[in-house]
Amino acid sequence: MPLVSMRQLLDEAAKGGYGVGAFNVNDMEQIQAIMMAAKETKSPVIVQASRGARQFAEDLYLFKLIQAAAELNPEIPIAMHQDHGNSFETCKSAIELGYTSVMMDGSLKEDGKTPSTFDENVAVTKKVVDYAHERGVTVEGEIGVLGGVEDSGLEHITDPDQAVEFAERTGVDALAIAIGTSHGAYKFNKKPDGSVLKMDVLIAIHKRLPNTHLVMHGSSSVPKDLQDIVNKYGGKLKETWGVPVEEIQLGIRNGVRKVNVDTDNRLAITGAIRKVLWETPEKFDPRDYMKPAREAMKKVVALRMTQFGQASHASDYSPIPITEIAKGYKDGTLTTHPLVAAK
Ligand SMILES: [Zn+2]
Repeated sequence: MPLVSMRQLLDEAAKGGYGVGAFNVNDMEQIQAIMMAAKETKSPVIVQASRGARQFAEDLYLFKLIQAAAELNPEIPIAMHQDHGNSFETCKSAIELGYTSVMMDGSLKEDGKTPSTFDENVAVTKKVVDYAHERGVTVEGEIGVLGGVEDSGLEHITDPDQAVEFAERTGVDALAIAIGTSHGAYKFNKKPDGSVLKMDVLIAIHKRLPNTHLVMHGSSSVPKDLQDIVNKYGGKLKETWGVPVEEIQLGIRNGVRKVNVDTDNRLAITGAIRKVLWETPEKFDPRDYMKPAREAMKKVVALRMTQFGQASHASDYSPIPITEIAKGYKDGTLTTHPLVAAK
């Protein structure tokens, strides 16, 4: 199967009332782990690469690996997504490589640290949308500022009025909103409750933007058992809490279609590698620890696929060629503008 438009994948998820995990990759074993899980659970899937991942793996290695995944798993719809694009040029280069979706994170300036103004965000995102849609490529935007790595006391929860105006002015397919989550392992110092995660804001935004797919970033659950394995074999993680799966599921019932997960997979991989090296320090063949690492990540991904509801939906639909998707954007059948959609 060729790589699928993320828009199609998310439209199908909306029809089916489920969410789709978007898993970050840097190397072959992570891609294989995702594909093993997708195959086992019969799940459509979003694979995503950050700018750091593209740099680490060199663009072409990573993209050819994704193409191999698509070729080897013709029954699985796969969307390839640029995570946190920081500029028009970053998104353009991903589209030129063959990515079927890009995130333009215009909530921050190009340095990826300084918050931008609302108008700057609209302008750069609209520019990416125009370029991407002409080529049938999906665009995710972001409004509000997430905590964690994007944080320096700057976190702010998405304002629903601004979200509506942003969607109207840019025409994004998917929208990342800030509701109190953050990137990385250290999200919360106790189990988060309703006062921390602003699910009411998410629900309000979905009511007003029913045609824009919502995206939850920083949605690793950081389970204690994965933390424990790392620490049992010499790791030094401080106790921490992630986003409870039941909160993600509440989000999915209210318009969340893309759920970003990275930290849980990193923990699973690191725990598995530490265990092998700790228990059998005489080993030095990378396959001795990469194989269990891949297996550990696969287990986490398969579990999330089941929890998000995407499992068993791989064969619900056939891919629409990207050129057809481009026509849909041109003739307005794929428009997400809230004012148009409300008519
Ligand atoms: Zn993110």
